[in-house]
Amino acid sequence: MTILAVTMNPSIDVQYPLDHLQLDDVNRVTTVRKTAGGKGLNVARVLHCLNHPLIATGVLCGYFGQYLQSRLEADGIRGDFAQIDGETRSCIAILHDGGQQTEVLEKGPTLTADDAAGFLDHYRGLLKKVDLVTISGSLPGGLPTDFYAQMVHIGHENGVPVFLDASGAALRAALEADDKPDLIKPNDEELGALIGETVDRTDLARMQQQLQNPLFDGVDWIVVSLGSKGAFAKHGDGDFYQAAIQKIDVVNPVGSGDSTLAGLAYATDRHEAAADVLQTAMTCGMLNTSEAKTGFVNPDRFDDYHAKVTVTKF
Ligand code: ATP
Repeated sequence: MTILAVTMNPSIDVQYPLDHLQLDDVNRVTTVRKTAGGKGLNVARVLHCLNHPLIATGVLCGYFGQYLQSRLEADGIRGDFAQIDGETRSCIAILHDGGQQTEVLEKGPTLTADDAAGFLDHYRGLLKKVDLVTISGSLPGGLPTDFYAQMVHIGHENGVPVFLDASGAALRAALEADDKPDLIKPNDEELGALIGETVDRTDLARMQQQLQNPLFDGVDWIVVSLGSKGAFAKHGDGDFYQAAIQKIDVVNPVGSGDSTLAGLAYATDRHEAAADVLQTAMTCGMLNTSEAKTGFVNPDRFDDYHAKVTVTKF
């Protein structure tokens, strides 16, 4: 009943609201928000909102790593990270000039081979305490492209399913490995990049063909999230589902993909039936869009949003 939410390259997310961003000059900020950031930490926060047991993990380093851990503790989120040398990164978002967002993103630490081995040992220890793993986001520098593939394999050696929300070479390596992730959640663009084709979110018959690409053989769930169009999914030996959602008022869509992954993990860990897993996942994505905070859902509105999702076999 416990989910391990992995973020290999977490950050302290800093928000600077400014009426106007003045280049090549001093900009003074009066209200600063600093949060524990990273896609897997959004997953952890949503699971926490849903009152589901979880452990957040990944690598932390330096004083900024300690600060991040303290922010998580202040939110009541259980973290158990491997410590390495260096400094955890900061990612700065300047919100300015009526809706513009300028971001400055640090790359983060570069891991050594010893750091990688140390993290995998730490991960093996945590697998004894959890029933499902989610892995989200990009790999930090220094780790091999097949690092997530290794984590999937180690998960399975310990009898724990692994859901992977990544993109690019790390996702491809996990799909090309012998041991497949149990679930992937590309959006339409990420799916297109994977198979080298354009994906049209309105042409589900074509998407059904595209999901039969041999690259996906052996992956139990492929959930393609489609923003306001809901999702299209392939499950098991070849069941396809469309999840349609009603139009809702969107406040902040950032992190909806992470909330969707949290919903997929939450529902799976509760042994919900396939269609219900999708309905819960869409509900979490939608709930996130209706909040200003990233990676946050209000459980009091769950039933209301759940009723706005229709899942049908395709
Ligand atoms: P992100 O990278 O911002 O975390 P994503 O591209 O991975 O997101 P999306 O497909 O945009 O993921 O969104 C995930 C889910 O969130 C959707 O399947 C849907 O349930 C919900 N969602 C996202 N955008 C909207 C929207 N505009 N209206 C309603 N629901 C939305």
